[in-house]
Amino acid sequence: MASGSAALVIRFSSLGDVLLAAHVPGFLRRADPSRRVLFATKERYADLLRGHPHIHRFYSLEDRSGDPAAPAPMGIRGGLADLIWALRREAIGEIHDLHQNLRSARLVRALDVARRVTPPKYALRRRLRVYARWLGPPAVPPLLRTYRAMCGLDPEGASGPWLRETLTRAEIERGAERVGDGLLGTGFALLGVGARWETKRWPADRFAALAEEIRDRFGLGALFAAPQGDPAAGALRSILPAARRDALLVAPFREVMAVAAHAQAIVSNDSAVLHLGPALDVPSVGIFGSTVPEFGFARQSPRDDAVGVPMWCRPCGVHGRARCPLGHHACMRRLEPRLVVEALGRVLARGEPRNVATGSHA
Ligand code: SF4
Repeated sequence: MASGSAALVIRFSSLGDVLLAAHVPGFLRRADPSRRVLFATKERYADLLRGHPHIHRFYSLEDRSGDPAAPAPMGIRGGLADLIWALRREAIGEIHDLHQNLRSARLVRALDVARRVTPPKYALRRRLRVYARWLGPPAVPPLLRTYRAMCGLDPEGASGPWLRETLTRAEIERGAERVGDGLLGTGFALLGVGARWETKRWPADRFAALAEEIRDRFGLGALFAAPQGDPAAGALRSILPAARRDALLVAPFREVMAVAAHAQAIVSNDSAVLHLGPALDVPSVGIFGSTVPEFGFARQSPRDDAVGVPMWCRPCGVHGRARCPLGHHACMRRLEPRLVVEALGRVLARGEPRNVATGSHA
C-alpha cells in the first residue's frame, strides 16, 4: 500500500461480529505500522469502540441510537451517501469488507479502490453443518485466525487486548467500583447470561449453580451480566437470594466492558460477552446450545474453551432460534455446570489470571 494511504475496514453489525472485527485494525497496523485505519460501522458500535487505539477515524452509519450527551467518537456520521462522499476524500489504498452484504458492497463499489479484500465468510459451510452434516463439512476456523491471515500475519499469532487501551482510566475505575472491593480481592468470573435467541441461553438456574461451584472450586466470586431487556435478567433476579441480587449487572455494554476488564475469566453463552475475552486477553469459556463452536465464533485464543452436549439435533440453526423446534431445549438443559467448571479449570490453568486492569488514557 502506498505510504500515507489508509485501509478501510467495514463491519456494520452486529455487536459480537463488530467486537471481533475490531481486532483487525491492530492486525493491519502490526503488519504495517505506517497504515492509517478507518472503520465503518453503525453509530451504536462506533460509540462502543470510542478510544480504540488503532482506529484513526470512524465512519458511522446513522441508526439514531446515539446518546446526544455522550462524547462522539472521532469521525463522520451520516447515511450511506454521506459516508461515501466523505470517504472519497480519504486516500484509501485498500478496503477490507468483513461484512459483505448489499450495503457494504455498495460502499466498496462507490469507492472504486483497486485493492479489495474479502475474507472467507464460510456461510455455506455453516449451513451445511446445520442442514447436511452427513456430508462432513470441516469446522470453520476461529474468525480471528482468518482475520490474521487476511492481514498477512501468522494465523496462529496473538490477538492483542485492544479493548484495554480503548477504555478510559475513569471507566476502568468505575468498573472497579461496580465490582466492589470484595470481588476485586477474591477475583471473579464474569458470567454472560444473556443472548438474543432463546435457544442460545443456558437456563438461569444453571448459571446460579455455576456461580456456587466456581466459588467452591476456585475461590472466585461471580457477576452475572445481561443486556437490558434480556429475559435472562428477570429469570436470575427471581431465583437469586435478595442479598445476591447486586451480583446481577444489567448495564450499557460499555460499562459491562469496564467490569470485564477486572475479571479473571469470562463464561458466556454464544453472545457478545464471550468476545470480550480475546479483546481483553481474559480466558473465556463459551456455552453452546443450538449453535456449535465449529461455526468459528469460539476458541479465538489458546486460553479459550467451549462446551456443549453432543446431540443429533445440534446445531439446529446458524444464528439461534426463538424456541427449540423439538420443544425440550435439551441441548442446554442437559448441560451440567460441572462440564463448564471443568472447562474453566482448563483455561485458568493455561495462564496466569490477569488481575490488574489498565485504562490507557484519561
Ligand atoms: S435441543 Fe436440539 S432442536 Fe432443540 S434447540 Fe437444542 S439443538 Fe435445537
